[in-house]
Amino acid sequence: MKILLFGKNGQIGWELQRSLAPLGEIVALDRHSTELCGDLANLAGISATVHQVRPDVIINAAAYTAVDKAESDVATAYAVNAEAPGVLAEAASAVGAWLVHYSTDYVFDGSGSKPWAESDPTGPLNVYGQTKLEGEQRIAARCATHLILRTSWVYSARGGNFAKTMLRLGRERDRLSVIDDQFGAPTGADLLADLTAHMVRSALPGSAGDLAGIYHAAAAGETSWHGYARFVVDFASKSGVDLKASPSTMDPVPTTAFPTPATRPHNSRLNTAKLQASFDLQLPAWQQGVARMLAEII
Ligand code: NDP
Repeated sequence: MKILLFGKNGQIGWELQRSLAPLGEIVALDRHSTELCGDLANLAGISATVHQVRPDVIINAAAYTAVDKAESDVATAYAVNAEAPGVLAEAASAVGAWLVHYSTDYVFDGSGSKPWAESDPTGPLNVYGQTKLEGEQRIAARCATHLILRTSWVYSARGGNFAKTMLRLGRERDRLSVIDDQFGAPTGADLLADLTAHMVRSALPGSAGDLAGIYHAAAAGETSWHGYARFVVDFASKSGVDLKASPSTMDPVPTTAFPTPATRPHNSRLNTAKLQASFDLQLPAWQQGVARMLAEII
């Protein structure tokens, strides 16, 4: 199997380089790649790359993920998150490849408290969510053999993440204020990469596209940012990290306490029943992956 990966150095892209390795030949690109174009803002360039590589599967882990910056940088966010996936879908169809793509719970309006199902009506609250939704729609319209994984609250041990920020602040301060009215499931980039490899193996070979579609993919269970932060501080304290803050000195505050350019949804819960049933997979509790990541970084 030949796999063409865009966005190889992002959180998920990095983990995909590991999880896809046993499946076949991987051509992995980022926006700075020179021999082949991997810059999603260069629409003609990425189309030419697909036609030159002629892969069995294209995996797009690249995206404009700066949620607040997207509010004022609409044209770039739109090109990368909406137009580029459409171009990749068209090129995938032309060469007979599958297209695997990632999207977000931000396509929903965050109302209610029920985990969102794939068939629920969308209603993005910000530019990032709008551009990601249009990316999904363009893929669905242009390439029948697609897998779109909508996920939430992605972290990885590599690079900055929410847990590292909480640990840094916990060393500096006695008390921390953390948002307690947004709910979701912290989901490891490693878990998403492993799911992707399983899904590609199941969906692809000789398949007529029966498993094609949108799937919600997130770790099991739910928490708030406040609950997530308490878990991190508790785990670190028990592991011997010297912190000024403790789980009991983390103050729950509403989203309005930290105004941001982009509106965030309150309900980021995702119903993952379709993915688990279709691919015979079981999603682990969010605490399991976060504890593993913490053990790596502490
Ligand atoms: P990252 O921000 O870690 O990675 C995104 C990658 O895309 C970066 O390597 C970035 O490169 C690259 N990129 C940005 N613009 C371009 C471009 N013009 N051409 C090529 N590459 C580009 O994101 P994640 O790994 O967390 O996200 C992967 C997917 O998951 C995305 O589709 C995202 O929308 C989705 N998702 C992420 C969530 C999260 O919490 N992070 C939640 C829900 C969904 P550079 O570093 O050079 O900018």
